[in-house]
Amino acid sequence: MASTPAVRVPVCVLGAGPHGLAAILHLKRADPALAAETVVIDPSGRWMSAWDSQFARLGIDVLRSPSVHHPAPEVDALSCFVAQHGLARSGLPYDQPMAAAFRAFTQHLVETAELAEPLAARPNRVTAEVDGGGVRIETDGSPMVADRLVVAANPHRRSIPPWVWRLCGPAVAELAHAGDVDLGSRPDLTGQRITVVGGGLTAAHLAVGAADRGASVDLVARRPLQVRSFDTDPGWLGPKYLRGFQDCPDPRRRFELARAARGGGTIPEWMRDQMDHGRVVIHEGAEILGAAPTPDGYCLGLATGESISAHRVWLATGTTPDLGALRCLEPLLPDVAAIGGLPVTDDDLRVGVHPVYVMGRLATHTLGPAAGNLWGARQAAQRITRAVTGVDTDIMSNLPEYRPAPR
Ligand SMILES: Cc1cc2nc3c(=O)[nH]c(=O)nc-3n(C[C@H](O)[C@H](O)[C@H](O)COP(=O)(O)OP(=O)(O)OC[C@H]3O[C@@H](n4cnc5c(N)ncnc54)[C@H](O)[C@@H]3O)c2cc1C
Repeated sequence: MASTPAVRVPVCVLGAGPHGLAAILHLKRADPALAAETVVIDPSGRWMSAWDSQFARLGIDVLRSPSVHHPAPEVDALSCFVAQHGLARSGLPYDQPMAAAFRAFTQHLVETAELAEPLAARPNRVTAEVDGGGVRIETDGSPMVADRLVVAANPHRRSIPPWVWRLCGPAVAELAHAGDVDLGSRPDLTGQRITVVGGGLTAAHLAVGAADRGASVDLVARRPLQVRSFDTDPGWLGPKYLRGFQDCPDPRRRFELARAARGGGTIPEWMRDQMDHGRVVIHEGAEILGAAPTPDGYCLGLATGESISAHRVWLATGTTPDLGALRCLEPLLPDVAAIGGLPVTDDDLRVGVHPVYVMGRLATHTLGPAAGNLWGARQAAQRITRAVTGVDTDIMSNLPEYRPAPR
């Protein structure tokens, strides 16, 4: 049976978060005509929707990463924007931007680059296109053939501790993953006992946010809390660690190195301070062995012998990147080598034989443990843009005509 005729585009980007935004901005910088024909697909139909929603749900008002990390090609674009518009600064040691300033900045990027809203669709199936190469993307609307596909959809699986699966009986109270908790819609938690499970920044945000709203909060972390400014040692953002990593020919070894460098969750000191003074009862180095429902919540048993009762349990236990979580790519996956859900990428971040490129944590095999962060967005966008257009946006963005106007 002949397949439905499809529109052909040079590039299709899946995902309109910071990584997808970085991709289109770098492509536009290198080749405006190609960027104009590029289609960005995101089920939300909006730029930055997942980012905005996670910051609002968790009540995060400042980023963890410094101002130099953002989706635009020019490194100082965010700090210039903040200065030019007189926006509030965090005053933190590395000038981490305020979430409101970052949001205004990304909106400004979308507007000044005159980007259309992403196509609000969810790809059902992506297959290799026989006629003329590329990949065929089927959605509920008209199919599309793209010469290259850029995956910036952040596919992942939630990490759920084993004791949660062993809980039986009807759910009596909230037991939710951090990805579903919405502090923004809960102004008052007075009288609530809440246990947050996890030792990273998301756990700390949830704990402080719940305490601010009047709850009694326990935070349970299986390791002693690790206080660190950034989630990845800054040596991973440059040659100090990356050179040896990228020179390592064995992808399995690179996977292990990246996993070890990332480690478990960490909390910056400024956030750790907010949990002090009895606002949050911290149980560190305390594995949860089991949980049982109680009439008004859950009772958690810790390896330390303690037990904690809670009306609500929030799991800030993280997520694991996994290309296979993007079901539409299933037809292509047999042609993609992967280790632990992470595709093996080449220098251009291409995976397998098809013209498919990945960004975000999926690019870990080439970019290392910080691939999923905003730093990784620029690195990936530069590499993919160079592969697609032959233009190096890193060099180009330092040309005088692209420097921001003096303040
Ligand atoms: C709470 C939190 C705070 C963070 N703070 C920082 C920070 O301060 N600094 C930093 O560097 N990093 C931070 N990170 C890490 C990282 O930068 C963010 O997770 C960031 O959102 C990743 O960007 P992304 O574009 O890869 O993914 P996302 O922001 O998740 O965007 C992916 C997009 O893909 C879309 N999508 C999903 N499925 C499909 C599909 N099938 N087809 C098409 N589109 C699809 C989604 O709707 C979404 O819009 C933070 C992470 C979290 C969880």
